[in-house]
Formats: sequence, structure tokens, C-alpha cells
Amino acid sequence: MTADIIDGKAFAATVREKVAAHVAALKADHGITPGLAVILVGEDPASEVYVRNKNRQTVEVGMNSYEHKLPADSSQAEVIALVEKLNNDPAVHGILCQFPVPDHMSEREIVAAISPAKDVDGLHILNAGLLTTGQKAMVSCTPLGCLMLLRDRLGSLSGFNAVVVGRSNLVGKPLAALLLRDSCTVTIAHSRTKDIEDVCRRADIVVAAVGRAQMIKADWIKPGATVIDVGINRIPAPERGEGKVRLVGDVDFAGVSEVAGAITPVPGGVGPMTIACLLANTVTACCRANDLPEPEGLTA
Ligand code: NDP
Repeated sequence: MTADIIDGKAFAATVREKVAAHVAALKADHGITPGLAVILVGEDPASEVYVRNKNRQTVEVGMNSYEHKLPADSSQAEVIALVEKLNNDPAVHGILCQFPVPDHMSEREIVAAISPAKDVDGLHILNAGLLTTGQKAMVSCTPLGCLMLLRDRLGSLSGFNAVVVGRSNLVGKPLAALLLRDSCTVTIAHSRTKDIEDVCRRADIVVAAVGRAQMIKADWIKPGATVIDVGINRIPAPERGEGKVRLVGDVDFAGVSEVAGAITPVPGGVGPMTIACLLANTVTACCRANDLPEPEGLTA
């Protein structure tokens, strides 16, 4: 068997088109432009690239982008004061603080300061609680992207056995909650799981969110299963020249694609969905703030 490739890049483009259409309608019908504020503390080069991409894509779909750069030696109180200012700014519908922040700051306290209604990263404990109790929440972007890809591939997810490998608050736990909400039978595997290969082999859906390059092998996968690879790992690529690296996922793509029914590649799978879902969450937050109908197909 050779798996179908789930093209996250192409799917993300359709999500952005839907967002852009909804933004255009909000402007034309209500005179409202959704706005996303991104806070970047310090000068981490990878974070600067992410923030630049987010800003560019926000503007491309017609939304307002507000970038706030603070020096690395800013205090926690200064970051929180900025968050509070943005919470009270009616032009801002979504707030995101790019992590990691410098060591002297607490990510948890920054997230706690963000208004849950503007928490487009879905990290606030209120949103985590709303999600796990089956209520309307802001859902973390990467899990939302995985859910969209799975629904597009499989239609109804009801009754499928799903294994999520990884239990982070950012990816594993919210994704497990989303799959449960869609009536999958969900197992969460992690570093202490016994016989993890056997656990994965029972799954119709395997989601890998571990951060270990190519850990999940072909003989962990049930023939025909759908495999979503969230992992982004850099490994040496001497064939590209000295000191060069390439990106791989948590799944051994070459081997697993011989067994699985469908698989997301890295890059070009879940990655592009994450920013697309950030834009989707911002337009959803804007609609909720203005008591307007939410865009269809862009929420969980
Ligand atoms: P974390 O490091 O927060 O969590 C990793 C999880 O994997 C933990 O629950 C850990 O278990 C589990 N784990 C670690 N080693 C093993 C093992 N040997 N066997 C089984 N489970 C293991 O990572 P994140 O959830 O934040 O990210 C996971 C991956 O996804 C990373 O590669 C990250 O770069 C990528 N990522 C990609 C995004 C995208 O846009 N595509 C967005 C966010 C993340 P335990 O809890 O027991 O320690």
C-alpha cells in the first residue's frame, strides 16, 4: 500500500480563502475589520520568522495586524500591562504572545492575563475547560488544524479508534478532547505508555505530537490507518552540504507511507494549517465579540 498524501498546504489555502471571504463580508456588511495583535518579547530568530509570517498572512486575508515587539529585558509586568491594554482595545479581536518568552517570565501568567474571548491560541484555562466540557471555546490552532484535516479525509470521525501520542497542553490534550467530542474512542499515549507500538497498532487514526524525529515506525501502524504528523524536528542533512539540516516529523514517513491509508508530510502537512487556524480563530473571535454568526467550517 502507498498512502495518500494529505496536502495541508493546499487545505490551508482553502481555509485562508474562507477567512478572507468572511472578512470581506464583515467589512462590507458591518464595517468591522477583525484585528490580530501579536506580542514578541526578545529577538529569538525563529520566533521573528513565525511572527513575520503571521503578520503577512493576517494582512493578506484582509485583517488588521498589530505587532508589538518588546525588548528581552522587559519585565513580566510590562508584558501583562500590554496584554491588558489589548484586552480593552475594541479593534483587537485576537491576542497571541509568541512563545518561548525569556526565562524570567511566566508563560502561564501571560496566558492567564489574556481575555479568554481574545485567546486565539486557545491556551487560557477557561478555554481548556470549555473545550473538555463540550462547550463553545477558542481551540488551539494546531489541534484545530489536525481536526479539519481528519474531517476532510474521513468525514464523520464517530467510532474511530484514535491514538494521540503526546499529552502537551498545546497539542496532545486539546486534540484528544476534540476527537472525543467528535465521538472517537481516544487513547492518549506518552513517554510512560507501555507497549506503545501495540497501542498505536490498534488505531484507525494516529496523531504524533512528540518532538522525536521519525519515532513512529511502519510496524506501529495498522494497514490503512490515517496518520497525522504534528512533529517538526531538524536533523542533519549532510547531502545538502556541511552543517545543513532538514525538517522531519515524528513519523518515519518513508516506511509509514507504505502501510498507512493516508499521511500528512513534514513539511507541508499540519504546519501550514496552524497559521490558517490562527486566522480562522481571529475571525471567529471577531464574530463572537459582535454577536454575529460564526463562519461555517472554520470552528471545531
Ligand atoms: P511537548 O514537548 O510539550 O510534548 C511532547 C509530548 O511527547 C509529551 O507529552 C511527552 O510525554 C511525549 N513524549 C516524549 N517522548 C516520548 C516517547 N519516547 N514516547 C512517547 N511519548 C513521548 O511538545 P509539543 O506538544 O509542544 O510539540 C510536539 C511536536 O509538535 C514538536 O515536534 C513540535 O515542534 C511540534 N509542533 C508543531 C506545530 C505545528 O504547527 N506543526 C505546533 C506545535 C508543535 P510526557 O508528557 O510523558 O513527557
